[in-house]
Amino acid sequence: MKHTSKKSIICPLCKDRITIGVENFILASKNSDIHLPHIHLHGNPLHALLCYINSELEIINVGVIKSIEISRDSETFTQIMKKWTNPY
Ligand SMILES: [Zn+2]
Repeated sequence: MKHTSKKSIICPLCKDRITIGVENFILASKNSDIHLPHIHLHGNPLHALLCYINSELEIINVGVIKSIEISRDSETFTQIMKKWTNPY
């Protein structure tokens, strides 16, 4: 089931508006004392936002990741395609 945060953010690098979605089972297993790290990939060239999210799904802190590496094996590719088709 899709679960989207209450607010979106503007990416500091490309200025696109990004809405963060976190899977329910991740939220359910989250330790409420620790901010949840969440990565959102987008843009051209590809970059990522590293977002720290609190229990209310608010984005507490955000960092831009320009250096991205994806393992070139079939298992990783399959998992990425699975995320692509059903992201939350
Ligand atoms: Zn961006």
